[in-house]
Amino acid sequence: MSFNLVLDAILGERITFYEVECLACGFNEVYYADPHTNKQIGRACQHCDSIQVFDRNLEKKQMVQLDGLP
Ligand SMILES: [Zn+2]
Repeated sequence: MSFNLVLDAILGERITFYEVECLACGFNEVYYADPHTNKQIGRACQHCDSIQVFDRNLEKKQMVQLDGLP
């Protein structure tokens, strides 16, 4: 399966948010965002064959944690 097909399956509809140099291989690591919400949904490096999916509820969880601080 091609890398893009895997991305389609895991991340679905997406836009390229920005690209950075991959720390592991120096190739372009691409950050993707949801085209409707502009929230980051994941990142992928085609050269490393690595895909990371971001938790779309992360902001919410962080806010809950902050609220729980003394
Ligand atoms: Zn890489």
